Amino acid sequence: MNRLEKMLSKWNFKKIAVWYLVLAVITGVLCGGTVGYLYRQRLKFAWQYARLEEAKTPEALRMAADKTAAASEDVVDILVVDENQQILYSAKDSKFAAGPLTLTKVGDAKKYLASADYPEAVFLQVKGDEFMLNSIVSHDFGKIRSEYDDESAFENGLSAKTVYMLNRVQARKAGGTAYVITRPTSVPGGETALKVTAALAMLLVCVYWVLVALWMYRDAARCKLSPLYWGLIGLFTNLIGLIVYKIYKHSATLCPACGAAQSAGHLYCSFCGAQLGARCANCGGKVGAKDSFCHHCGNKIK
Ligand SMILES: [Zn+2]
Ligand SMILES: [Zn+2]
Repeated sequence: MNRLEKMLSKWNFKKIAVWYLVLAVITGVLCGGTVGYLYRQRLKFAWQYARLEEAKTPEALRMAADKTAAASEDVVDILVVDENQQILYSAKDSKFAAGPLTLTKVGDAKKYLASADYPEAVFLQVKGDEFMLNSIVSHDFGKIRSEYDDESAFENGLSAKTVYMLNRVQARKAGGTAYVITRPTSVPGGETALKVTAALAMLLVCVYWVLVALWMYRDAARCKLSPLYWGLIGLFTNLIGLIVYKIYKHSATLCPACGAAQSAGHLYCSFCGAQLGARCANCGGKVGAKDSFCHHCGNKIK
């Protein structure tokens, strides 16, 4: 028995599994709770934002715009416009509410829009899911800003423009379009909380992964199979390796005296000489534990 086998033979894997689960649940609740709390405004915004498109009447669209705008401080305004970009409603009465907001594309980078009425503003057009994701996790709006400067520096020179994030929501049933204009600010402590959560999740996965390999190593050693071989299979293939190992063991007979895995045809353990399996009282042949009749001579066993 080598050092690793000696150490592992003392481990209680059932207890370890219980402790692991308890720790994983506590970590999940604490991290999930912290992230959920820090990002509560953004999650609320995302939830309300998803309702905008579903509005069935113009009034419902205005109400949904109000609720979405009230959900987060990142919202600059939500404008409901008609097909000529005439503003019908503003949820926050921002400077853009005066309208009209005739948006045209800026330069070659198709994602930026500008309005002649607001020369100091530039809108980064972000679509559907990307907008949703950006609205929830975006931390560095300054980056979007500097990206704009990089892309437009040759045309406009370094500008003093304010960059906003803009998303166009088509509420077909309500017959209107909503422009959601936001300026994501960073969530205090949010980025750290996300990083810590990701790191802990990685750590938990690693610990689980290694535990599976160690259990396979220990069990293979107990069954007098090759622990190194099965341990490495566990380390590289994990759950798949574990299933293969279980199937392999299921097809073998375990010696009741020493625990060695023996091929099903063996009559005696090749490690300790103990008898393997029950014997037929009539012919002495090996019979299975669940057999009712001897498959050698047909004698009734039970
Ligand atoms: Zn044995
Ligand atoms: Zn028999």
